[in-house]
Amino acid sequence: MNLLFDLDDTLHDKKASLYGYALSLWESNSLQIESERNDFIDVFVNENLIIQPKIEVFDKLRVQFHIPSKLASQMLNDFDGTFHEFSVAFPDSLSVLHFLKNKGVKIACVTNGRDFFQRNKISALGFEPYFDAIVTSGGLGVKKPNPHIFLESLRLLGFVHDTTCFCGDSLRAETIPIPLTN
Ligand SMILES: [Mg+2]
Repeated sequence: MNLLFDLDDTLHDKKASLYGYALSLWESNSLQIESERNDFIDVFVNENLIIQPKIEVFDKLRVQFHIPSKLASQMLNDFDGTFHEFSVAFPDSLSVLHFLKNKGVKIACVTNGRDFFQRNKISALGFEPYFDAIVTSGGLGVKKPNPHIFLESLRLLGFVHDTTCFCGDSLRAETIPIPLTN
């Protein structure tokens, strides 16, 4: 069997990672008075859970928390290069991947997002050795649920098994609209 996994909110606990990042950001920059700390973390996490350009996220933070423009720009630049360091896996993710790998299941990660950003997280989470293929929408140029991204992952797996399952958290992005054919 082939098994295709989504990354964010399936194997990677995005909310926990964002929480850790926001906390670190707050502590390292001493952004505002202590009483606004939880507000900052809540806004940071919730805005980053929405699919929107990161520049908009940091602009909202700048306005709401009166962050100097230069510091807000620095925060935006740092985010891309350092977020993966705060990546948190769901508790059973690694043991499930380990189990499946030992069973001979071919495993691919099929994830929407920028290529370097998604791959940095996969590496930081320790998932890389378990994936026989990694396909990102940023790298391929098409997003789930476009069938080409699923086909590309099967091509990279070598179409070795007749049966393929997908494990994800989004019915909208991960329901394949047409039957796949080799
Ligand atoms: Mg997801």
